[in-house]
Amino acid sequence: MAIKVCKFGGTSMADGTIIKSVKKIINSDAERKYVVVSAPGKRYSGDAKVTDLLYECHKTLMEDGVCRRGFEPVRARFISIIKELNINFDIIDILNETERKINEEKSEDFTASRGEYLCARVVAAVLGAKFIDSASVIFFKENGSLDDDKTYRAVREACADGEPAVFPGFYGSDSNGKVKTFSRGGSDISGAIIARAVQASLYENWTDVSGFLACDPRIVDSPKPIKKLSYKELRELSYMGANVLHSDSIFPVRKANIPIQIKNTFRPGDAGTSILPSSRYLPDGSTVTGVAGKKNFTVIFIEKSLMNSEIGFIARVLSVLARENISVEHIPSGIDTMSLVIASEQLTDFKLQKIIDGIQAEVSPDTVRVIKDIALIATVGQGMSSSVGTSARLFNAIAAANINIKMIDQGSSEMNIIVGVKNEDYEKCIKAIYSEFFLSPLTRA
Ligand code: ASP
Repeated sequence: MAIKVCKFGGTSMADGTIIKSVKKIINSDAERKYVVVSAPGKRYSGDAKVTDLLYECHKTLMEDGVCRRGFEPVRARFISIIKELNINFDIIDILNETERKINEEKSEDFTASRGEYLCARVVAAVLGAKFIDSASVIFFKENGSLDDDKTYRAVREACADGEPAVFPGFYGSDSNGKVKTFSRGGSDISGAIIARAVQASLYENWTDVSGFLACDPRIVDSPKPIKKLSYKELRELSYMGANVLHSDSIFPVRKANIPIQIKNTFRPGDAGTSILPSSRYLPDGSTVTGVAGKKNFTVIFIEKSLMNSEIGFIARVLSVLARENISVEHIPSGIDTMSLVIASEQLTDFKLQKIIDGIQAEVSPDTVRVIKDIALIATVGQGMSSSVGTSARLFNAIAAANINIKMIDQGSSEMNIIVGVKNEDYEKCIKAIYSEFFLSPLTRA
């Protein structure tokens, strides 16, 4: 029988009533055998996520020497979940033991991970399934990367009995056996790792939206839902800010050609978005799949005559950034010019000046100019490489909206065109691109 791994996000775990609907969803399909859960999220706007409460809890532990003050709201939250579920489950004992261990470990990662741990214990009891602690099956190497082989082997061994199981998301063990978390939102990665390990036929990611939309609904009213995406398109869109799924979560499943299905716990009948490996992805004829973007980049523009013939020029420029520990997002270049596009959050004025001085010293450019407050907007679509005139339509639409383009970069995969515009033109530019490709009569999708 095919096996599905289902990951449920924080809002799907927010209270007992929602957890009951999650149980119905799982029980309605016998293939849904392995479940990965996040910590309970917000029940209403203004509510706290359990993980945020736990980060606060760690601060109180550091201030008071014990976590009691910060742990109380977490304790109350789980007691109320158990009441709503109306099940016979000794949460008090588990909460006491967790509080004791938080005091003992004194580690931020350990404390933060307890939301997932407690939630998985509860969901395992609700489903009558086995609880498998991710600390005993997900392993990180000393350099912080995933120890794939050890992890996949351990997960497979833990699942060898074929029993349904629940795993807490977001954490594993480091090389010293201590709990280590992924970055925020990392339960998506845990789900992908479990799916890969058990060779699932599908990785279902249950969240509170019905999949990806062709652009940010805060900018365009009711944008078109995206029914299917290739892994590559997903990577580009989530990297550029479409945050339905953690952008790192595709790597484990992509290698094993496992599709991902995004589903909405609150509207389980909605189709959602299918994310497919290239081998199974059949383009539906549309040129552009989605538009996404981010604000606040700084562009360092460098000009030098005959730059192209100067051996090692780009390497020397990049060595300045490496020395300052700065990562670069894009490097559009011409024969005598190159630009470095850097996320502004990495740069203080002092750091920026050090980089400019470093570039002057290293390559003696004719000009170095800094353009601040730039937004990047990516127009993404696997169909773009084969359709004539896409960039003309894109640039015409931006020009018609009277927006000045500061930078252009076409990814080597030919499936995205990135434009840099002023932060203040960001929303207007997204609207112009969306209406050109999704609302105009030329739209074929
Ligand atoms: N609970 C963690 C967070 O809030 C991980 C997750 O939800 O995926 O970031």
